[in-house]
Amino acid sequence: MKTALITGASRGIGRAIAIRLSQDGYSVAINYKKSKDAAQDVKKQIEELGGKAEIFCADVSDNKQVEKMMKDVIACFGGIDVLVNNAGIALPQGLFTDFDDLTAKNVFDTNVFGTMNCARAVIPYFVSKKSGKIINISSIWGICGGSCEVIYSASKGAIVAFTKALSKELAPSGICVNCIAPGLIETDMNKNLSDDDKKEFAEGISLGRVGKAEEVAETIAFLASDASSYINGQTISVDGGMI
Ligand code: NDP
Repeated sequence: MKTALITGASRGIGRAIAIRLSQDGYSVAINYKKSKDAAQDVKKQIEELGGKAEIFCADVSDNKQVEKMMKDVIACFGGIDVLVNNAGIALPQGLFTDFDDLTAKNVFDTNVFGTMNCARAVIPYFVSKKSGKIINISSIWGICGGSCEVIYSASKGAIVAFTKALSKELAPSGICVNCIAPGLIETDMNKNLSDDDKKEFAEGISLGRVGKAEEVAETIAFLASDASSYINGQTISVDGGMI
């Protein structure tokens, strides 16, 4: 049985990924930071569907917590095959100059260094077995850049570059590194947006609607599977087609 660790799997896109991968037969390691009850709920749902899951508390921005989590996951399931770096935070919309350096640093600590910490912790294990998949979650803003989302966009752009560079470094070891760039997806991250805001945003999407977490999870399931064996260093947009 293969094992997948999904960071930030207590809610939103991460939750959908955990449930989707369990349906493909993965044992699922559900990482969370604060939402223990929600993480337990994901585990319960997976178990009710006949899957295997465990919850792991760790702040991905804290290297020591990440190293411990990785050891605990490997000990719990006997190995790890897929790492999905999904945990991320956004800021309220605002001009770049409205945010101070500490606020920007917090975003980078979770989105960029959190992704790097988890990759660094899993790579020695993947290298030793000469296989493994790392899937990072960027954002459409990491490709296009979003006005009033400058710091978040910069953090997500860094993930695209990190994916490309790391994929080249790890390919000789049989490890694939890819990235997903979701568009606007209905989760808690966007709960501050009004229906009118979403409607306006949807006018710039060729499919004319906001996406669902489950639709992102489908692409993750593909990248985690052997069906994606010749895809490496790519960023795949799951955004309904931006106009
Ligand atoms: P949510 O806010 O709904 O969920 C975020 C998840 O990340 C939670 O499970 C949260 O855990 C976890 N998390 C946050 N910080 C940390 C941390 N330091 N350590 C561990 N876990 C953490 O977000 P989404 O599901 O919407 O977003 C998931 C990913 O997708 C993010 O990287 C986001 O940037 C990206 N994305 C989202 C889009 C969208 O429109 N929703 C669009 C493009 C990209 P807990 O609650 O336990 O703290």
